[in-house]
Amino acid sequence: MLKDLLGGKGANLAEMTSVLDLPVPPGFTISTFACQRWLAREKPDQLVKEIDTALTRLEGEMGKSLGTSERPLLVSVRSGAKHSMPGMMDTVLNLGLNDLSVLGLATETNDLRFALDSYRRFIEMYSKIVLGVVATSFDTALNQILGNRDAPNDSSLEVEALWALIDIYKVLVRDATGSDFPQDPRQQFYRAIEAVFNSWSGSRAIAYREREGISHAMGTAVNVQAMVFGNLDDRSGTGVGFTRNPATGERRPYGDFLINAQGEDVVSGARITQPLESMGQDFPSAYAQLIEIFDRLERHYGDMCDTEFTIEQDRLWMLQTRVGKRTGRAAIRMAVEMASESDLGIGREEALRRIDEHHLDQVLHPQFVVPHEDAIGVGLGASPGAAVGRCYFHADDVVVAVNRGEKVLLLRPETSPDDVHGILAAEGVLTSRGGLVSHAAVIARGWGKPAVVGAEQLVIFGHHANFGDFRIDEGDWLSIDGSTGEVIPGMVPLTTSEASIEMNTLLEWADDVRRGHLNVRANADTGDDAKIARTLGAEGIGLCRTEHMFLGEDRLPIVRRMILADNASAERAALSELETAQRADFYSILEAMDGLPVTVRLLDPPLHEFLPSIEELVVKEANENLSDFDRDLLNAARSWRETNPMLGTRGVRLGFVRPGLYEAQVVALMEAVGDRLVEGGNPIVEIMIPLTVSGPELICARSWVEEAIDRFADRPGYDKVTTKIGTMIETPRAALVADELANCADFFSFGTNDLTQMTFGFSRDDIEGRLMELYLTKELLAHNPFQKIDVEGVGELMRLGIGLARKANPFLSIGVCGEHGGDPASIEFFVDLGLDYVSCSPYRVPVARLAAAQAVLNRP
Ligand code: PEP
Ligand code: MG
Repeated sequence: MLKDLLGGKGANLAEMTSVLDLPVPPGFTISTFACQRWLAREKPDQLVKEIDTALTRLEGEMGKSLGTSERPLLVSVRSGAKHSMPGMMDTVLNLGLNDLSVLGLATETNDLRFALDSYRRFIEMYSKIVLGVVATSFDTALNQILGNRDAPNDSSLEVEALWALIDIYKVLVRDATGSDFPQDPRQQFYRAIEAVFNSWSGSRAIAYREREGISHAMGTAVNVQAMVFGNLDDRSGTGVGFTRNPATGERRPYGDFLINAQGEDVVSGARITQPLESMGQDFPSAYAQLIEIFDRLERHYGDMCDTEFTIEQDRLWMLQTRVGKRTGRAAIRMAVEMASESDLGIGREEALRRIDEHHLDQVLHPQFVVPHEDAIGVGLGASPGAAVGRCYFHADDVVVAVNRGEKVLLLRPETSPDDVHGILAAEGVLTSRGGLVSHAAVIARGWGKPAVVGAEQLVIFGHHANFGDFRIDEGDWLSIDGSTGEVIPGMVPLTTSEASIEMNTLLEWADDVRRGHLNVRANADTGDDAKIARTLGAEGIGLCRTEHMFLGEDRLPIVRRMILADNASAERAALSELETAQRADFYSILEAMDGLPVTVRLLDPPLHEFLPSIEELVVKEANENLSDFDRDLLNAARSWRETNPMLGTRGVRLGFVRPGLYEAQVVALMEAVGDRLVEGGNPIVEIMIPLTVSGPELICARSWVEEAIDRFADRPGYDKVTTKIGTMIETPRAALVADELANCADFFSFGTNDLTQMTFGFSRDDIEGRLMELYLTKELLAHNPFQKIDVEGVGELMRLGIGLARKANPFLSIGVCGEHGGDPASIEFFVDLGLDYVSCSPYRVPVARLAAAQAVLNRP
């Protein structure tokens, strides 16, 4: 692929000049292959020879030469990897300037001020990037000159001041490096290329690749182009333009623009930018040409593009274009709208492929509870979603605080790539400078972090800041709204956002594709959760963990009485209390899921989980006299204690040691069914027995359930209710004897959490804390099997079990209700296995609907 060799930017430049016929400054690209060889320290002679030839050709084409006093050629030397890594690698502009060619540039442009300004920018950039001189020394020198001359900013410095600044910069370079600023343009050129190659191995580039899962082996290409000048005069300018709005997805050109400026000025946020439309007034014909190019780009790439462009004395030059980054909301809106636009016509399948779980997550991101009226100010809403955290002013401090367990906001004057680790760790970002395409905005949007940028009222002084009159100290709570740009003191409560219309449309398209292949249900234990799940598209409940109903303050004492019961009548009394409580819970779930199946799992965890901790009771015993009830609890906790509770008296085994427990649960459920029938509802229930390991065990448990159901047979309406009885497959043995279990089950649900735990022998409660990280970094495992299904081990057991079960009972329906049910990669595997449904937490339901459709589309 062209991009492998030329990098994204280089491939696009090649395409821009050839197929698209755009006005692009002439240049050439040094391949990623050359970079790989360079980084492997292979002899660069051949490379130097080829670069020389290409440069000579470029000089010929432009009729200019590098470093000469007449018609000097200036070039940009830019990085450009296969995958976009915005701002993570280096770029040098204005290369070719020296004491001689700066005068040549002045003569040619008839503008000495412009030439000197370009030279001082070049010395600063080259010295920072190639020679490693610290950036702040140049800032300090510039600020001093500005202060001495009473100049508001660098564009108001006159010729004499610029000469002085150049001299100071040169001294700075000599002091820092021990040599004069290099005057030989070819040497400047080779060293700039080396610096760009080396920036591939810089720490911020490596960190970014690790976060994005980009291979470290690819290397970057280097794009060399003749410079065009947006800072030549007021008939010149530069900007960043998107063919549609990357924050909202609206079909309207969007971007930032500056008159008399270079590209860096726009993205660094150093100057306050103007909206792209304003370019239409100052440069009507270049603007019209740009809009026409936007159209051409969209039709060519079939997607939203972002561009960098420069106007040099009214002439438009396109410097760069690529398919642009966007927010989740924008991605969904664009995909849906583009599928309906005849000129783009990407089609519904392509629209579905373009959206991923992160996009959906962003749309489902928290928002503020509205209204709130105490905003202290407003910046630009650059990345949607609301965030609340304690304020820190340096990326490193953010990381330290997050590691302490704090929720944090990163506040910066503007962000640079050096702040990336802070952005990553923070809940959100607030900056005083920068536009919607500044680093902070681009990075935050890509990662779905709420961000407010360009909040000019914010002035940061080391470890505190003022926001207008409001003082913010390190560690203070602040809330930001990345959609409206509002900044609010303290902690504003968050809600979950409403799904967008476009998201619903897209998910309906996904449903059309996946229907008949994989259903999506939710794991929900309350009526409220079930309601949310249904709104998000769940087609039933795949797992109701009934133990969660036992944990409330009003329920726990009843459960404890049941455990402590030492005679049949005390046990029955406690169970009947539980029955009453559970009946109401079941009612609300059945109501929320009326007409859809609700799978209720009978009690699963070891009973001692409902008892207080032995340690606490022992301490209490040592300090004071225990009450009789406490003493009974302590005795019970001791007697129920097990060495391996996850492998002990839990799941269906509980039914054997506490006969009557499962019966009571089924009775509560059937009473709730009756209550729904009276209301005219359509309750559909499935009763699930956890952790079975053998046929006889399941037959026995099934008989308890059937007996309880039979008690309702004669009640009105129950003749219309068919209740399925099934089991979870959670142990390797259950998978291996799946045929035996399938003979006495109406459905299976793979509990992949336990199945993973038991297949690996990894304690699901402990292993991720300490060992998993180690296993992953040492590459002992390819991924965390609790997150993404282990296809080779756990997956193989599933495949085997499904084969055996379907042969024994072709009518068996089979699903998954472990956490993997909401993981796109696992869902792809489940579609391949031919499962009937997955069940996952309510907010993962949209992700599962989409992932199921994508999996169906990806089938060979
Ligand atoms: C499972 O084991 O995958 C499962 C869904 O049950 P739980 O997580 O409640 O053990
Ligand atoms: Mg389980």
